[in-house]
Amino acid sequence: MIRFVTSNEGKVSEAREYLDESVEQVPYDYTEIQGELAEIARYGARETFAESESDEPVLVDDTGLFVEALDGFPGAYSAFVEDTLGVERIPTLVADEENDRAAFRTVLAYHDGETTETFEGSVRGRIVAPRGDRGFGYDPVFEHDGRTFAEMSMAEKNAISHRGRALERFADWLAER
Ligand code: IMP
Repeated sequence: MIRFVTSNEGKVSEAREYLDESVEQVPYDYTEIQGELAEIARYGARETFAESESDEPVLVDDTGLFVEALDGFPGAYSAFVEDTLGVERIPTLVADEENDRAAFRTVLAYHDGETTETFEGSVRGRIVAPRGDRGFGYDPVFEHDGRTFAEMSMAEKNAISHRGRALERFADWLAER
């Protein structure tokens, strides 16, 4: 069993769809340090494990949307920007830019009390006006191969997404242990 530390149901559904292991959602509010996605995720995984009574391994997912024309913004601040500006404002920020390219990046950090491992995944796409009603977060404004993530089923998104790729690396590593 793996404890997925997040309050985001969308992340949990995607992990459950991908992993053979059973996944329990743990909504622990770990400290989000300033830094790169990998540092944030590692710190969160270790802190959650240390603060909990269970010995089951934990998994933390830190994800960001990096817009090229905005020098990588909102990046590590993506959650804050979704809560304050809102997802729909991102297309307006790039409306006057020639370059509408962006990437999602996910780092998964696994910690079992001894080992800490990180697994990364990314996907490139472009910022568009919102389309689609599936998924969550920035999915409606991120287009990949002609469709936004919010226009894809979860299986289609997982097959190509930042999180899907990170989950694939994590699943391969788990299977080899
Ligand atoms: P965090 O990793 O929970 O800090 O999420 C960062 C921000 O990215 C939040 O605003 C999430 O809603 C958003 N986000 C995380 N994963 C995805 C995704 O797969 N699609 C769209 N937005 C996402």
